[in-house]
Amino acid sequence: MDTTTTDTQPMLIGGEWITSEDGAIDSVNPATGRINRRVTAASAAQVDAAVAAARDAASAKGWRDMLPHVRAQILGRISDGIRAHADELAHLQMIENGKVLSECRTQVAGAAATYRYYAAVCETLGAEVPPARGDYLSMTAYEPYGVVAAITPWNSPMTMEAQKIAPALAAGNAVLLKPSEVTPSVGLAVARIAQEAGLPPGILNVLPGTGAVTGHAIIHHPGVRMVSFTGGTQTGRSIAAVAAQRLIPVALELGGKSPHIIFDDAQLDAAIDGVVDGIFEGSGQSCVAGSRLFVHRKVLDQVLAMLVERANGLRVDLPDAPGAQMGPVSGFRHRERIEAMVQGARDEGGEILAGGCRPEGDHLAAGAFYRPTVIAGLGNHATAVREEIFGPVLCVLPFDDEDDLIAQANDTAFGLASGIWTANYQRAWRVARALEAGLVWINTYKQLSIATPFGGFKESGIGREKGVTGVRLYQQSKGIYWSMNPANVRA
Ligand code: NDP
Repeated sequence: MDTTTTDTQPMLIGGEWITSEDGAIDSVNPATGRINRRVTAASAAQVDAAVAAARDAASAKGWRDMLPHVRAQILGRISDGIRAHADELAHLQMIENGKVLSECRTQVAGAAATYRYYAAVCETLGAEVPPARGDYLSMTAYEPYGVVAAITPWNSPMTMEAQKIAPALAAGNAVLLKPSEVTPSVGLAVARIAQEAGLPPGILNVLPGTGAVTGHAIIHHPGVRMVSFTGGTQTGRSIAAVAAQRLIPVALELGGKSPHIIFDDAQLDAAIDGVVDGIFEGSGQSCVAGSRLFVHRKVLDQVLAMLVERANGLRVDLPDAPGAQMGPVSGFRHRERIEAMVQGARDEGGEILAGGCRPEGDHLAAGAFYRPTVIAGLGNHATAVREEIFGPVLCVLPFDDEDDLIAQANDTAFGLASGIWTANYQRAWRVARALEAGLVWINTYKQLSIATPFGGFKESGIGREKGVTGVRLYQQSKGIYWSMNPANVRA
């Protein structure tokens, strides 16, 4: 697997690797500003060809009727292949989205585990035969949609793509993957591994390109029967509008502005570790980033002092530098947006306690780096507190009591994740139940398991990925009734 080639990289349609210069996109290393490679982008006509190939492959006996344990073996071999290519895959993600190498390695291991998990689910998940309510048997069978689309963002392509492709394949579908134009390469590399693992041609097609051309053509194509999307809330809303017109199901994993909460009885050292990882890991480019920190007023000064010291001490460096804790953000335009949001926070009266600028150092000057930033003094209605910044920017707000906290924490359009630090388990339970969020962490943060369903409340999404039921997202149920009355059957 070559991660530094100068040739234009092909896309994968119907088992064929196809290269085209028309509309090809540049993959750029955000740590250096240099072009990694050019990648073929799919036109509307090529999307059409991919849907046709996927439809044929999905309805071919070889895939549709493949016994679950045989399909599971293929998924298991993909998992093995990902593990065997772990270093190249981690490097490939790092040079496209700038995440530090250690985090990329962890995500590669997670992707391999996701394929292994869905191999096990594929082999063991049953259909249902409820107790009879008459002289008949009824059964709930689960069938694939046929061709499903997976549209993914740039922040964690290793993780996001595995979380969609593995269950969609386990469910018996053919998949069209449209990776972010910022990170086209990981999906292509995993597709090559899947081919080597024996996945039939056309079952996984990878169509890099822009949302405006490739993504648009995919979601409007009549052959695409379901769309699984992870990305920004605005894009999710526009995809949902198209799906509503077409009457096809969508799964949407969208943005967040997650409240992270420290009560005055919290173990502060552990809480600060959780808060720092929760917002600065991956340069804050995580949908579950704990970007609004609510601190009980009694411990506010102490928490702010600890946070500022930790933020200033984080090592921002090239993502493959030993000991680097934060790499660049994903691109230069994205950094400009983060800078504009921080300037807006200043204008609205926010006090920048740490960061709020680019790091010093000649070796970082060519990259899209930004310092870990802590802002205090803003109200819950300031733009930087309301909008997702998707960068290393933490807004800290005080609260006086539980009612005040819940009101502030829930006063947001989003509802993805949340975190609570307290020694009082009754309070943790009460607050966990009161928060409008799809995920609550208690005395920990960003702990994730493939076995636990994941998704958001409110404008953070529709549907739940992961877990055993993650497969059901990519299936439709069919009720089959079977009379047990011998009089109804010719002897
Ligand atoms: P975007 O919404 O901009 O893009 C996501 C994907 O959708 C990209 O592949 C993009 O293509 C594509 N796309 C854009 N417009 C369309 C369209 N009209 N039709 C079809 N596809 C389209 O998100 P980002 O890539 O900027 O990712 C950041 C966002 O993702 C954040 O809001 C973050 O919170 C969210 N996210 C949510 C997660 C969750 O699980 N809830 C996890 C991770 C991120 P293109 O290649 O052109 O960008």
